[in-house]
Amino acid sequence: MTIPDIIIAIDGYSSTGKSSFAKLIAHEFSFMYLDSGALYRAITYLTVNEGLIDKDGQIDSVNLKKRLEVSDIHFSYSPLGSKTFIGETCIEDKIRTLSVSDYVSPVAALPFVRDYVDGRLKEFGKKRRIVMDGRDIGTTVFPDAEIKIFMTADPEIRAQRRFDELVSKGSNPIFDDVMNNLRERDYIDSHRETSPLVKADDAFILDNSDMSVREELFWLKGLIQGKLDILQ
Ligand code: C5P
Repeated sequence: MTIPDIIIAIDGYSSTGKSSFAKLIAHEFSFMYLDSGALYRAITYLTVNEGLIDKDGQIDSVNLKKRLEVSDIHFSYSPLGSKTFIGETCIEDKIRTLSVSDYVSPVAALPFVRDYVDGRLKEFGKKRRIVMDGRDIGTTVFPDAEIKIFMTADPEIRAQRRFDELVSKGSNPIFDDVMNNLRERDYIDSHRETSPLVKADDAFILDNSDMSVREELFWLKGLIQGKLDILQ
């Protein structure tokens, strides 16, 4: 299937398999994949690591803002995928831990953090042929994306997937902690003032509770074909 130079925006709840799906799309269509959550996670890692958040979750916004202005958060690409760096240090594994997940949604709710990330993401979009996943890609970052998908799945299934992922990476999580983290992030992400997680009016809902990622790709190809037929 020949795909034109489009942007595919994937939004949805936590642990709905957005990144696995996006990576498969990127591989199948030779698109660039960008994980916008990794930028929010990197900023959260920086916040926690530099003591810019206290034990009550109070964020030192003034110093975080200054720190962001001089930070060098970037991705390094290889045939095996992308990895997140601050300066010379690879933080890919560190940003996936529960300690970062616990604080990422409050950090991501700060308007100056969103401005910073939006600016970075829009730069990537100039190249087109990109698939990006997150919470506000189809609504705020690329409202003109040609294909928008909103992913959802049963919360128990999502928590189990996240739990399995953490175990496979060598962690020893407690299932209820993983479940609570998902619930809390979904709540904060959906209720924040700036760019909350909502389905774009023109997004297609994908509930993958009972779907494999291959089935998702089949579904997407049908959707793209339908769109191309309309355009011809
Ligand atoms: O996608 P991932 O679960 O890694 O994202 C981590 C967090 O980053 C989300 O829970 C959300 O708070 C924030 N995020 C966001 N907007 C995006 C991507 C992620 O607010 N576009």
